Parts: sequence; C-alpha cells; structure tokens
Amino acid sequence: MAQVQRMSRLMIKTLRDDPADAETLNHKLLVRAGYVRRTAAGLWSWLPLGKKVLENVSRVVREEMDAIGGQEVLLPALLPKEPYEASGRYDEYGDLLFRLRDRKGAEYLLGPTHEEIFTQVVKDMCSSYKDLPVILYQIQTKYRDEARPRAGVLRGREFQMKDSYSFDTTDEGLAESYQLHRAAYIRIFERLGLDHRIVSAVSGAMGGSASEEFLAPAPAGEDTFVDCPNCDYAANTEAVTYVATPAEAPAAGPVEELDTPDTPTIESLADFLGVPASATLKNLLVKVDGEIVAVGVPGDREVDLGKLGEHLAPAEVELVTAEDFVGRPDLVRGYVGPQGLEKVRYIADPRIAAGTSWITGANKEGVHARNVVCGRDFEVDQYLDVVVVEPGDPCPRCGTGLQVDRAIEIGHIFQLGRKYADIFSLDVLGQQGKPVRVTMGSYGIGVSRAVAALAEQTADDKGLCWPREVAPADVHVVAAGKALQTELALDVSEKLGAAGLRVIVDDRAGVSPGVKFTDSELIGVPKILVAGRRSAEGVLELKDRRTGEREELTVDEALARLTDQG
Ligand code: ATP
Ligand code: MG
Repeated sequence: MAQVQRMSRLMIKTLRDDPADAETLNHKLLVRAGYVRRTAAGLWSWLPLGKKVLENVSRVVREEMDAIGGQEVLLPALLPKEPYEASGRYDEYGDLLFRLRDRKGAEYLLGPTHEEIFTQVVKDMCSSYKDLPVILYQIQTKYRDEARPRAGVLRGREFQMKDSYSFDTTDEGLAESYQLHRAAYIRIFERLGLDHRIVSAVSGAMGGSASEEFLAPAPAGEDTFVDCPNCDYAANTEAVTYVATPAEAPAAGPVEELDTPDTPTIESLADFLGVPASATLKNLLVKVDGEIVAVGVPGDREVDLGKLGEHLAPAEVELVTAEDFVGRPDLVRGYVGPQGLEKVRYIADPRIAAGTSWITGANKEGVHARNVVCGRDFEVDQYLDVVVVEPGDPCPRCGTGLQVDRAIEIGHIFQLGRKYADIFSLDVLGQQGKPVRVTMGSYGIGVSRAVAALAEQTADDKGLCWPREVAPADVHVVAAGKALQTELALDVSEKLGAAGLRVIVDDRAGVSPGVKFTDSELIGVPKILVAGRRSAEGVLELKDRRTGEREELTVDEALARLTDQG
C-alpha cells in the first residue's frame, strides 16, 4: 500500500509571496510550495516534499543506469588531495574547490567530480581484460564553490550528481559504453518529462562527438544554444559552423578613399556615411603566439574570441594593446584595411567571400576606403568561422534561420580516453598476456539540477506542475472543510492508497477551501480530487492540474479513473 500523507501532519509551510532573495522561478516556487529552504548561498535543505521529488529523479536515473549494466557504488565526498595533485586538477580548479585540513594538518578537498578516485578504485579492483568493460556509478553529493550561485537549486555549491565512469580496453569498447550512456540519458530525460536537446559540447573544428551535452531549454538557463525551428539541428553557440551560400557579387568600381574624420569605430563610421554597419568590414587585430594577425568580419558582427582560440589552438590568442602599435606605422589604429596589410596574416569570416565589396579602413588616420573587393584588392590567408552566432543565421543543415535560446545543462557525456589511465598507470592484463592501457568515459547528470529544471520547464502561473513520474504524489485530495467532506476525503484517500497510489490529503482544519485549492495548485501534484459541495451524495470533483479539466465522479469512478492511468 502506498503512502497516504496527511497535510495536517506534513511539515510544510506555503508562502503567498516570493522570497525576497529569489531571482529564479525554481527558487521562488520550490520555496513557496514548501519543497526546499535556502540554508546559505548555494546550500539547500530538502523538505519532505522536495526530498520525495529528488528521490523520484534518483530512482529513474538508477533504474536506467542499472539497465545498461551500471553498478552502483558510493565513494567518499571528502577526498585526499594527492590524486587531484597528480592529475593537475588540484590547481586547475582554483577557487572552485572546497579545500580543508584534518586534525593532523593533512590537506583534503570536497569532491567536485571523481575521475581520479574511480580510476584508482578500478586499478585496485581490476587486473585482467576479463574484468572489463565495467560501468560504475554513484548518486552523490558534490561540492563546487561556484562564483555566483544565484540560479536557485540549478546551481548549488553542494548538489546531487549522478556520475558514472566506463572502463574499456579498446576504443570501440569506449564508443559502445558512450552510446549506452547516451541512450540511457535519452530514456531518463524522457521519463522525467524534461524537454531536452543533445548538442556537441565542443566545436566542429575540434572534431566531435567525443563529448555531448544534454540541454533543457528554459529562460533561466545559463547556457545559450542554437536551435533550428525547421530541422532537428541544435548546437552549442560556439559549435555552429557557417555554411557560405555562394552569391553573385555586384560589380564594384575602383577603390575610392573617403575622408572620414573621427570615425575609429564601426558605429561612428556607419553614422558618418549613412550606411548600415553590415556594409563595412571590421578588422580586429589580435596576437597569435605573439604575432599580430588581423581578423576580418562584417561590421555588424562580433568576433567570438573563444571560437577563434579553439580554431587556432594550441596557439595562444590575445588582444593587442597600445604597445603593440609602437614601431608599426603600417597599423593605423581604428583605420585598418586588409588592402594595405602586407606583413600581416589575414584571417576572415566566410562571409567575406571572394567578389564581395566593402567599406573599410584606408590605413590612414581619419580615412576609409570603399569598393574594396575581396580577391581583387586583398587576399584572405585563412577563412575561419569566428563570429558570435546570432538569431537568423542560417542552419548549417537546412539553411533556415536559427533561433538562439537559453538552456540548462542537465547532463554531460564525455569520452575521456586514456588521460586518467595514463596519469594513474591503469593497465589490465590483455588477451596476449601483455598489459593494456584502459580507456575511460565519464558521464554526469545533475540530479538536484534536474528537479529545478523540471520546476522551470513545467510551472505555470499557479505554481509547480510536476510530471507524474517525479511528482511527490499521484493525487492531491482536498477536503473543502466540513466534517462530512473531510470524512469522504479521508475515506477515498485510504482507498486510493490501498490501490497503490501515492496520496496527499489536505485534511487541515481551520484552513479555508480557497487556501487549500491555491496550495494544491502551488504544490503541483498532477491530479487534484476535491471533496466539496456534493460530498453528501458521495460525488467528488477530479481536476487535472495541467489542463484544468474537471469532472464529477463517484468514489468508485474516481478510483477506477486514477488507478487506470498507468
Ligand atoms: P556548468 O557549466 O553548469 O557549471 P559543468 O559543465 O561544470 O556545469 P559537469 O562537470 O559537466 O558540469 O557536471 C555534470 C553535471 O552536473 C552537469 O551537466 C550539471 O547537470 C550538474 N552540475 C554541475 N554543476 C552543478 C551545480 N553547481 N549545481 C547543480 N548541478 C550541477
Ligand atoms: Mg558540463
């Protein structure tokens, strides 16, 4: 028999108003509906209803991880620093790590993620190729001293993560473990009712499917991604590649110089000439491993330094400073044009195609040039897609204008390869009797973040609105107030419970029906069953929390209806 939770005994306090410190919907609603309380910045206390939702998410994750052969373990969250020193992450993580000492002065950290420790566990436990492949996972508390834990439960400094790690002897094995996780994640997010997209986590330039993120579109999300309204293309904004559509360039006259005093910025130039910024060519100077390089993009576009850096990696990309112009009369700050840059490598966005004509710097103070034609007046040394993607840019797959949306990263899957195995010399004895280096994958799901993401995605103006799989109950029975109504509500609750349904029954005395209805909507259980006006006849009203649809039913009909929905 499933639990019947009486509201009169439930530790809950609902609030009419948003907490003063709340900036995001999940924070407002989860606190107002009595699911969590904020203990300190980024630290959340899970109250009875919240804990139920968290457990439901964990259960779904656990079932699907078990289904792909994952074995659940639990490693410590308090960790010695040495393995993280060996991997270099003790320093790399910087301020994100919580560091502490024990009574003897030895240094520890609170685990932000566990690649190092899992590698050591497998090294300890597995010695032969026969012991692999293995998938290990845990659902555990993680610690990261996030700089701005403002997004409510979405970004905790202490949070619940499912982290798993795969260990294989071959690259094909790793690819298979990765695909197993990918499929399991799709099932998990489908079961949870989280709308999600899978995007490549690194740019196309880096080559790949070795790492993908699961994003849940929501305005509160801290990630941006592009989404094609026409086909199923979705990608990280840094990963979008521009596919140039060849266009007939209009014939341009000869290069003509224009006096344009005090126009060092694109904005001032466009204003002065009365042309759109898109007609101008912007040339950004950067240093690539110390060498000055010019990057050309249309004047209305921004250079994405991250994208540029990724294309040019491992070279280091920096912006130029005033000092870099010293002794370089060829570089006229604010008036650079590619037609005069003989000694400078010229990288350009694919939109600067051969035959296109531009207004750009004339390499003289206060002077610009027009009719500067690519391929005639200047050459591009290298084309790179380096602009910040914008709404309306063409989809690389179908050409439709892309949308740029915000999303929450709810999961991340990653083919690590042999990085950690190399650091910790993780080998097993191979079929030929020789040691074989192990290859690894690591895979995360933000379990507590998924609760917040669901709140963000499913809430409406009345409050939370949980999908059934994660809801703290299947049905919320409301006794309008009179003794007879309470009696009927308790009676039907017992029967629903006996039939295996999880029930919350609002049997509180001295609380007005209006408050009870408002609370039931705020709490967001999928079905609300009211013992109201027609209780004397044994008739209840069943309401769907999401659609608001109502129907009047007898106890037996209500039972049949609710148990029948699977
Ligand atoms: P973010 O970019 O949001 O900081 P991340 O890429 O650093 O996340 P991962 O190291 O990939 O995070 O961790 C795996 C998963 O754990 C993430 O996909 C996310 O769902 C969850 N997660 C990460 N940081 C937090 C946090 N501070 N609070 C709650 N969940 C988190
Ligand atoms: Mg990530």
